[in-house]
Amino acid sequence: MKIIPLSEGSFTIDATKVFVPFDKTKDDLQQRPKGSLLVEVQPFVLVSERDTILLDTGLGFSDPDGVLQIHRNLVNNDIDPLSVTKVLLSHLHKDHAGGVERMDVALQQNILAFPNATYYVNRDELNFALEKGKSSYLPEELKLLKSSDKVVMLDNLGVIDDYISYEVTAAHSPYHQVFWIKDEEQTIFFGADDAPQLQQMKSRFIAKYDYDGKKSMELRMKWWEQGADEHWTFLFFHDIKSPMISL
Ligand SMILES: [Zn+2]
Repeated sequence: MKIIPLSEGSFTIDATKVFVPFDKTKDDLQQRPKGSLLVEVQPFVLVSERDTILLDTGLGFSDPDGVLQIHRNLVNNDIDPLSVTKVLLSHLHKDHAGGVERMDVALQQNILAFPNATYYVNRDELNFALEKGKSSYLPEELKLLKSSDKVVMLDNLGVIDDYISYEVTAAHSPYHQVFWIKDEEQTIFFGADDAPQLQQMKSRFIAKYDYDGKKSMELRMKWWEQGADEHWTFLFFHDIKSPMISL
């Protein structure tokens, strides 16, 4: 199975929850508001003979030509967005689910950005995002998930097509879920914002931005140990240097 990170760039984010582009060659983190975090925004695509799987959909920004950035990044890797068969959503914060749908100029309405894919989303996460909204979610851009027949609602934990396991952790967000994708050679682990950066796997770090920071930390320690035993490949959505590590 081929794994391709689809970086949308580096950003800083502070309490306002606005993603401000950060150019590593000329911007200075010290000049950003106090408490700003420097993060990559980096969905992944997994390509096998069986499926083309997208892991989260990024910010949903468009380039000057009006093309969704995640579409552009796929095309640059010789992948037609129409060939995506599954979209797995860890949670629906706007940097992970911004590209779920897009504005179709000809139709003058929003459509799912990956019309041939089945979307997998946690039922409670979607209801929470639509009801609570706030600055972390963009409810207006998630509505199609509620009405489309291309969406499979997941609860708690389970298995998709015999080779993808998922489990709700309720750590980074109240209904955040993580995925294990198994093929013959490897177990690919996508912990999304429960395990966003390599450095966090190796330290006892409790993040203030998490719903349950202590639980996130404990899960990271557990996964890092189990991943070493079982030779997992970890994908890090927010890591600016190491998108993936195979143990
Ligand atoms: Zn998040």
